Amino acid sequence: MRLKDKVAVVTGGAKGIGKAILAKFLQEGAKGVIWDINPLAEKTAQELNGTPEKVVKAFTGVNVSDLQSVQKACEATLKEFGRIDILINNAGIIRDNSLRKMTAEEWQAVIDVNLTGVFNCTRIVSPIMIEQKYGKIVSISSIVGFTGNFGQSNYVAAKAAIIGLTKTWARELGKYQINVNAVAPGVIDTDMFASVKEEYRQEFIKKIPVGRVGKPEDIANACAFLVSDEANFVTGQTLIVDGGGTL
Ligand code: NAD
Repeated sequence: MRLKDKVAVVTGGAKGIGKAILAKFLQEGAKGVIWDINPLAEKTAQELNGTPEKVVKAFTGVNVSDLQSVQKACEATLKEFGRIDILINNAGIIRDNSLRKMTAEEWQAVIDVNLTGVFNCTRIVSPIMIEQKYGKIVSISSIVGFTGNFGQSNYVAAKAAIIGLTKTWARELGKYQINVNAVAPGVIDTDMFASVKEEYRQEFIKKIPVGRVGKPEDIANACAFLVSDEANFVTGQTLIVDGGGTL
């Protein structure tokens, strides 16, 4: 129970990695709050609420790329829970295309959600954490922020920027006992990976030293450590969680 009674906001927590992060935090004793644009978040909250000790509240229609929408979600969260101890900047989208073909709209859509969204949520939540003199912020980057990736100019720009922002915010917020870190996942076993042809999947897995792709729970476990008081002396870091795939 490393997170007993901590209030944790997870953006994009309706499904995928964000949902796994919430489930892990609940196990560790936290209260979960989802900020997601997708109404599915309501169902996710119901599903995770399972037992009386587990408290999850979903705020749907929250668009992280819109500062006012984030401000409203933050006010509603404070009204209900009184504080925010943990912020996980997880919401993200992809609009892949090669540099030659990428449209201005594709570029902007990904920058708006994956980069401006991280700024907006941290900008709005950090003053609360400053007042509390306590806070843990983790943003979800990606290994492509280190390696680059064909067809992902927009996504790579945002994910690499998160690595720099994390260092900047760690410097600015450290004196308020706020830790700011990032997690850079490798390929995670989502619906997307399941749809890849079996032979290609096996080829891909061969390149990963631990011999498998990641599970959403692998990312959730890394986040749980970084937001716990066990990591009080860790800040400004981006933890690669990829089974050694980028070695
Ligand atoms: P997902 O598509 O399953 O979930 C993303 C969630 O974000 C959804 O619930 C969606 O509704 C929400 N969202 C999208 N736009 C939003 C907006 N404007 N405002 C609020 N919520 C919004 O994706 P996932 O695979 O779980 O990815 C989660 C994070 O992990 C993303 O930042 C992604 O870039 C990163 N990541 C994923 C992988 C992978 O292999 N899946 C690898 C590296 C990094």
